[in-house]
Amino acid sequence: MVRYKYIYNNKKKIWHNKNLYIVILIVLVMSAYIYSSLSGFLSDLKDNQYGNEVIQPGSAHVHYIDVWQGDCILIQDGIHNILIDTGSSIMSSDVLNFFDKHDVDKLDMVILTHPHEDHIGSFDEIVEKYQVDLVLKSGITHDTSTYRNVEKILADEEIKAIVPVYKEIFTYGDMMFTVLSDSSKKYDEINDYSIVVRLDHLGNTFLFTADMESSSEKDLLDKETDIECDVLKVAHHGGSSSTTASFLYEASPVYAIIQSGAGNDYGYPHKSIIERLDVHAVKVYRNDLLGDITCISTDKGISFIFEKDY
Ligand SMILES: [Zn+2]
Ligand SMILES: [Zn+2]
Repeated sequence: MVRYKYIYNNKKKIWHNKNLYIVILIVLVMSAYIYSSLSGFLSDLKDNQYGNEVIQPGSAHVHYIDVWQGDCILIQDGIHNILIDTGSSIMSSDVLNFFDKHDVDKLDMVILTHPHEDHIGSFDEIVEKYQVDLVLKSGITHDTSTYRNVEKILADEEIKAIVPVYKEIFTYGDMMFTVLSDSSKKYDEINDYSIVVRLDHLGNTFLFTADMESSSEKDLLDKETDIECDVLKVAHHGGSSSTTASFLYEASPVYAIIQSGAGNDYGYPHKSIIERLDVHAVKVYRNDLLGDITCISTDKGISFIFEKDY
């Protein structure tokens, strides 16, 4: 009997100790979880407030920079810097500040989509400060001092500049840029000559449409070009002569970015385009409302950061 009692008590003691260990373990696991979610939340909050995001290895940041009325997109993977359009000349100091804040040391490729001032106006200021390895240009000429100035800089500085052809591919690390516009086509509108590119990065797809209008959109559709994307840069600042219903249907983006300036003279983005995006259940982010928009692309998907100057 005594022996039995002893064993019984001992078992009970072990059971109590086991219980205690489990409780301590649960408390530890919960504390670690709460700490990690809280610190994640706090760093997210910090990023959202200050745009102080660090580019993690294997990720790419697509910055749709708020350049008021114009286009300017900087794409970085921590090694390469690609620029699609420069914004107009009056915004050059904002663009250079943005580059400075985001550790741009040189530009591997600059795509000057077409010769309008709101897309190429800051090119001279950028070249003065940063080395540019390669320029993609549309091939259409334009009788303006801004356009002539850009051509002069390209010649004077001996910057390699090419007119890319349909389906030409430019690869930088995990980022693959495919040219979807066809430089051999002839159009009435300069906007239709816009270089259109798709960026593929770790399963995420971005479509950059510059100022293309319905004629070049139709050409893309006729050629059955793959324009399906996760994030669409809405063409021509949200103007109603672009982003046709059939184009939007084929692109079927989850997100749409509109680069337009608050209180601009053209009424961009046009109400009909906002309504069309709404009908297609596309989530719309606008520079005029949100300031700088950054999309972070990783192998796990995409997320957004917004930063507004007040
Ligand atoms: Zn434009
Ligand atoms: Zn234009």
